[in-house]
Formats: sequence, structure tokens, C-alpha cells
Amino acid sequence: MTAIFCIGMAGSGKTTFMQRLNSHLHAKDTPPYVINLDPAVLKVPFHTHIDIRDAINYKKVQKQYNLGPNGAIMTSLNLFSTKIDQVLGIVEKRVETDKIKHVLVDTPGQIECFIWSASGAIVTDALASSMPTVIAYIVDTPRTTSPATFMSNMLYACSILYKTKLPMIIVFNKCDAQDAEFAKEWMTDFEAFQETLRNSEDLNGEGENSSGYMGSLMNSLSLMLEEFYRHLDVVSVSAYTGAGFDEFLEAVDRKKEEYEVDYKAERERIL
Ligand code: GDP
Ligand code: MG
Repeated sequence: MTAIFCIGMAGSGKTTFMQRLNSHLHAKDTPPYVINLDPAVLKVPFHTHIDIRDAINYKKVQKQYNLGPNGAIMTSLNLFSTKIDQVLGIVEKRVETDKIKHVLVDTPGQIECFIWSASGAIVTDALASSMPTVIAYIVDTPRTTSPATFMSNMLYACSILYKTKLPMIIVFNKCDAQDAEFAKEWMTDFEAFQETLRNSEDLNGEGENSSGYMGSLMNSLSLMLEEFYRHLDVVSVSAYTGAGFDEFLEAVDRKKEEYEVDYKAERERIL
């Protein structure tokens, strides 16, 4: 079995992606085990086996501790993570008896609440020490067509790889609205990306191009990203139409292997 954490910027389509993946797996007669870790979501459009909202009342947490929305999400996650042993016990039992192949995890819309909180780390580490775990980093493709935005998004993905130390699949979502070929080209053909950068006018919003300090910084960063890309699988999907989901599942199988060969020992060594 494999656990898949769906992570991405707010609005990138994590929940819609989960919904599509869920029905895709049901159609293949391999229903997944589904966990929702977003305490603030109003409605989850698919059946969940474990829902943080059943254990923790986000609104009550917000009132009781006098918190803003992000503070309340983090406090809810903290409260939930104190019960992670119990939760894991339930998951392991069900996965075992029902021969479940995939555990899907939806994460809070506010990416940093999950990735940069102690409880986010506790939850991911707990799952990753119990079964092969991969990150599906969901990208809003139509919103990432400018090279500067694209690079920022990839740097964010890189920081998540670094932080979680888990194999990662970059999922270019919404390919019904915007084809992801441009992104794949930028990721495989370094020259092409540099060329786009050189011709790009919006590097610093002042019409300057790569001759300024931003250009030099972006050149260095793109070299670093080239190394980062080597560790990734890339797929393009549409959570609307269902395109690309078989390719996604193939990537999950590859990353599962990688987890067992490379990541597991490394994680055990550092953590
Ligand atoms: P989340 O905040 O990451 O969970 O994102 P949601 O799943 O709530 O989706 C955010 C918005 O993107 C919604 O308006 C969705 O309808 C839209 N969306 C999600 N997936 C797709 C897709 O594959 N194609 C298009 N065109 N829109 C999508
Ligand atoms: Mg969501």
C-alpha cells in the first residue's frame, strides 16, 4: 500500500483532485482509504474514513482560544496530532483487513499551516514510518505560465521535498484549461527555460530583463532547480475530466519503489 499526501497552494485543486482520484480508484475496484486533515473545510465532496472535523470542532477551537483562521487550523492540527497513534492504529488495521492499496490524505488549504507546523510533521512522519508515503504536489497550471511564478512554485515544492524528505510527484492540474507541455519543457530542457527567462519582461515588474541582479539570481536558482527536477516524477492531469490519472498512479508505483530503496533508510538515519 501507499499513502499519498495531496499538498499544494490554496485553490490548486487538491480537494477536486482527491475527489477524482477517489472515484478513479473505485472504478478500478481498488477503493482507497481516505483521510481529511483540513479542519476548516465546510464540505468534503467524497466519503472519508477519517475526518479531522469529527474529532475537532474548528469553530469552537477558534472561539475558545480566541484565534484567527490560521491559528485555529494549527491548533486543530496540534490537537489531532496528539491522537495520531490511535488514528494510525485504525488505519493500519483497516488497510490490513481490506487489502487497501492507497491511503489518500487531503491537507489544509493553507499549505504553510501543514508543512511548517510541528503537528504537520508529526502526522506525516507517523504515516511515513508505517507505510510507503509519497507527496503529490498539486500545481495550478493556468496560473503558473510565467517563468517567475513557475520558478517560485517549484522552489516551494523543493522546500517541501527538503522538509518532508518524501518522494514527490509534481501534478500539473487543470490541464483541460491549460496544457502543461510548456512546464514539462522547462523542466527537461534547461536551455529552453533560460531562453524564456532572457526574453521575459516581467522579472521585476519594471521591464528589465536578466541583466539585473534578479536575472543573475534566477539563473543560479534555475541551475539548482535542474538538480531538484532529477528527483521528481511529473504528470499532467485534469481533476475535471479525469485525464492523466492512470499516469499518476504509475508515478505513485515508481515513487513507492523509490521510497523503499532510497528514502526509507535515509529517513530512519536522520529522524
Ligand atoms: P484546493 O483549495 O486546493 O482544495 O482546491 P479545490 O479543489 O477547492 O479547487 C479550487 C478551484 O479550482 C475550484 O474552483 C475548482 O473547481 C477548480 N478546479 C479544480 N480542479 C480543476 C481542473 O482540473 N480543471 C479546472 N478547469 N478547474 C479545476
Ligand atoms: Mg481543499
